[in-house]
Amino acid sequence: MNQLLDVTDLSVSFNTYAGEVKAVRGINLQLSAGETLAIVGESGSGKSVTSRAIMRILKKPGKITGGRVLYNGKDLTTLSDKAMQKIRGAEISMVFQDAMTSLNPTMTIGRQISEGLKKHQKLSSKEAKTQTVELLKKVEIPNPEVRYKQYPHQFSGGMRQRAVIAMALACNPKVLIADEPTTALDVTIQGQILELLRDLQNVLNMGIIFITHDLGVVANLADRVAVMYAGVIVETGTVDELFYNPKHPYLWGLLASMPKLHMGSKLRAIPGTPPNLLTPPLGCPFAARCPYAMKVCLEEMPARSDVSPTHSAACWLLDTNAPSVSLPQESIV
Ligand code: SF4
Ligand code: MG
Repeated sequence: MNQLLDVTDLSVSFNTYAGEVKAVRGINLQLSAGETLAIVGESGSGKSVTSRAIMRILKKPGKITGGRVLYNGKDLTTLSDKAMQKIRGAEISMVFQDAMTSLNPTMTIGRQISEGLKKHQKLSSKEAKTQTVELLKKVEIPNPEVRYKQYPHQFSGGMRQRAVIAMALACNPKVLIADEPTTALDVTIQGQILELLRDLQNVLNMGIIFITHDLGVVANLADRVAVMYAGVIVETGTVDELFYNPKHPYLWGLLASMPKLHMGSKLRAIPGTPPNLLTPPLGCPFAARCPYAMKVCLEEMPARSDVSPTHSAACWLLDTNAPSVSLPQESIV
């Protein structure tokens, strides 16, 4: 498959008055054309920060502190702001959870989309309008000519999210990053939007990074999954590998806390809280909540162990070099 993105050792910190919050700590991700990668985790696990870092739109005082993001042979972390602006929106697009944050309430939907087309694709006003109406059709907005002239407040939540998707697709991006794009919508509309994304992906062969905390959505949509916890990827693999052969105790907890595998079934809290990323633990970030934690888990970060060529997890239980795996009496819980 044609690889689009290759993220290596990416780290992001936020310098705050209290100190440096290490929000993302050395993560690795790959994305190919036509593929959907889901990044799943609780809020605060670093999934949104990761996507914003890839797009270079981190909120202040967020800063990329290490690693690279290769796209088309270029490292996005070192591109000039100007070069990055050309890629953003045109080759790599993003859809956020709250459509309203991406839409200007004082401008018609049609104008907002056609402005992007004029800017990135150097179209005339007339060409941009024709193409915008086509885009509104593509995302299945009824009466696109009428809708073109309406303002965001005249759209329902689901329609607004479709309009935002149309805007994101305006320049035929190679990569679409969708950060919880359906979370604010009811389950039926959510299903329709996901189906729309799948259909558009089939036609356009985009790579999609889908950020969610909803395992039902992951099962429905993703090809591969990366599970994030406290700024690191604790397990990654194909959907089948992660749902049928999960290896990391955090994922066991997530799956066990799901009543049913359908859309809208949110992750229920696993007892305890994630570590403070001002002072990330020396060892496994999940140790304080893990029923299987051993002495070594507190002392050293587990390395990534391969389960298959496409599946890996970072847990001492999988590490043949773990000193205490065979010594349950050393268990701290
Ligand atoms: Fe639990 Fe240890 Fe595995 Fe971390 S490394 S998930 S603490 S068993
Ligand atoms: Mg988020």
